[in-house]
Amino acid sequence: MTKFMPEPFKIKSVEPMYFISDERREAAIQEAGFNTFLLKSKDCYIDLLTDSGTSAMSDKQWAGLMVGDEAYAGSENFYHLEEVVKEHFGFKHLIPTHQGRGAENILSTLTIKPGDYVPGNMYFTTTRFHQERNGATFVDVICDEAHNPDLADVPFKGNVDLAKLQKLIDEVGGDKIPYICLAVTVNLAGGQPVSMANIKAVSELCHKHGIQVMYDATRCVENAYFIKEREAGFEDKSIKEILFEMFSYGDGCTMSGKKDCLTNNGGFLCVNDDELFAEAKGMVVQFEGMPSYGGLAGRDMEAMAIGIKESVEFDYISHRVNQIRYLGERLDAAGVPMVKPYGGHAIFLDARAFLPHLDQQQLPAQALAAAIYRTSGVRTMERGIVSAGRDVKTGENHVPKLETVRLTIPRRVYTYAHMDYVADAIIELYKNRESIKGLEFVFEPKVLRFFTGRFEEI
Ligand SMILES: *Cc1c(COP(=O)(O)O)cnc(C)c1O
Repeated sequence: MTKFMPEPFKIKSVEPMYFISDERREAAIQEAGFNTFLLKSKDCYIDLLTDSGTSAMSDKQWAGLMVGDEAYAGSENFYHLEEVVKEHFGFKHLIPTHQGRGAENILSTLTIKPGDYVPGNMYFTTTRFHQERNGATFVDVICDEAHNPDLADVPFKGNVDLAKLQKLIDEVGGDKIPYICLAVTVNLAGGQPVSMANIKAVSELCHKHGIQVMYDATRCVENAYFIKEREAGFEDKSIKEILFEMFSYGDGCTMSGKKDCLTNNGGFLCVNDDELFAEAKGMVVQFEGMPSYGGLAGRDMEAMAIGIKESVEFDYISHRVNQIRYLGERLDAAGVPMVKPYGGHAIFLDARAFLPHLDQQQLPAQALAAAIYRTSGVRTMERGIVSAGRDVKTGENHVPKLETVRLTIPRRVYTYAHMDYVADAIIELYKNRESIKGLEFVFEPKVLRFFTGRFEEI
């Protein structure tokens, strides 16, 4: 097991958590239709549903809330955020949005024409939704290794396969591809990073064909940490320098501030192009708010600006990644199947290998997430066939190669002791895995079905 440095923070304020009885958990999961998204927070013991908006803010961020300038236009906090984003991301223009999908909506609407193609290194739910809503076809150009959970020694499983990207360009032409969505790290591949060399190569190929490089920057700090750890030539660079270089090869980004910006709410869009910026300003007022707040309070922008600065501190990001690795190593020692190498924000259990007695159509990851809650009070999330949804044209289920349960670690919230509880609970369940039954839909929403779908045991 990794010998670990303790948490790089002292606890100044606490939020009590409660462990409810077996009977109450059983009633809660039945009531939630076996969907962990529909559980009440108060019924969850350790909540690993998501790392989105669940970060603990620092004392400085809380203090920042008190200097919120809530002017309707030209808030001080916007200028602070603009300066911090420029310093860390380097893009020319900033538009705050209420969260990441607000930025995705603006970017997709303004750049995609019906019949276009948007390549990406694996899909993300809301990202692909906005691309398809505007008439584009999403094309997965991630390297094949990303779809194989067992390849533990591939350091950059998030990399784009340049041959796949070239093939798409040859087939449809660069003018049918407004941009590539380059996710750093790749959430659904298990939080896997993209190397600097690959970012550079993707940028060169795209720009040669007039294709913009737009990052999904949601977990960019985690990506920078992996580059420092794994890519030759970056070991002595700071996280901030690596981050800045990553973005120097692109044309803009969408950002969910709820992840690597260490805030509970917020997001933004960055672009270099002046014309696109002007159009984006026109659109943000229709859907989010004035371009100087984009649906955020001044205080939220302040917390985000401070959060960005804290997120590139080495002790913070090193603790985060190593805490997740510790959880992975404990599970691995007991033989629990997982996606490897371990990602930057979560451990992904390989549900098909965990539950070999279930067919993928029996929703093994959904069933496993429900079983983990039932037995331990730990809330996790399905990232498999349910999340993948249906093909918009054929109506058939997308059948992803990765059928996973995500144990997502909120930032600065839980300690190593909490990780031990989670590991013990899952190891115990693994010993009794034959008892877990498959599930079927009893209510299937048309879009983003994983959020509100309901299930029954088969
Ligand atoms: C969360 C997330 C988004 C969307 O951001 P929201 O703030 O939730 O709207 C986009 N891409 C990735 C990879 C994400 O994890």
